[in-house]
Amino acid sequence: MGEEAEPFLVLANGTQIMPVWYLIIGLVGALVGSFLNVCIYRLPRRQSIVWPGSHCPACTTPITWYDNIPVISYVLLAGRCRACAVPIPWHYPVVEGLNAAGYIGLFWYFGPGWPVAVYALLYSALIVVAGTDLTHQIIPNAVTLPGIGIGLLSAATVLPTGLANGVIGMLVGGGLLWFLAWLSPYLFGKEGMGGGDIKLMAMIGAFLGWKPALLTILVGSLFGSLIGITLIGARLISRQDYIPFGPFLVGGALVALFFGQPMLNWYHALLFG
Ligand SMILES: [Zn+2]
Repeated sequence: MGEEAEPFLVLANGTQIMPVWYLIIGLVGALVGSFLNVCIYRLPRRQSIVWPGSHCPACTTPITWYDNIPVISYVLLAGRCRACAVPIPWHYPVVEGLNAAGYIGLFWYFGPGWPVAVYALLYSALIVVAGTDLTHQIIPNAVTLPGIGIGLLSAATVLPTGLANGVIGMLVGGGLLWFLAWLSPYLFGKEGMGGGDIKLMAMIGAFLGWKPALLTILVGSLFGSLIGITLIGARLISRQDYIPFGPFLVGGALVALFFGQPMLNWYHALLFG
């Protein structure tokens, strides 16, 4: 009380923070998001994500740094390649914006420290998975296999998860998805999930532990069923159409990451009073 009115903002944990940090973190998020676009485009095509540098997929003209500024260049170029005027897909600025917004949200929620750096890595990995699954029905091993290793290492060291919980999370998450994948031809009469979903869920479990992994599958299945039923009801797709499950698991994992602890506390109170 009575202190100078400095331009501070308050994080979820009560820490005061200078607004410029949000700007810096948002910029880092947008730049990383630009790299995620490269991953989403190249990983399903089995191309190197480091070489060659960014170029227009249509005319192969290298993209200059001033045409490669996240979101801003897309607006300045009116969504078209400077050399050949082919439209740049709308999901490029969306991925950059989502990654920037996610980093700011994670920083606000968890505050500065190692956990937020790890969660930012997980968040970006989840964006790549959602992007490749939506565009190519592929969840790249190049993301999920190193992700499982980094998840277990982080669970054992800087995350509140703990190694045992991370290992159980990996086994429960991956195992349950394996079971669902085995079951889905009998339940739905078609292949609903694949090996990519199994490894994705093992990765999420390794980072977050077994309870958030179960919550991820529960929320993801709920989202998936609701949207699937809605799309079939609106005759936008038929029952035989394939709906990728990865993006729903990604949505479930984000719910578990941000709201997992409050939801588990509430559930615990409901069961045990
Ligand atoms: Zn071009």
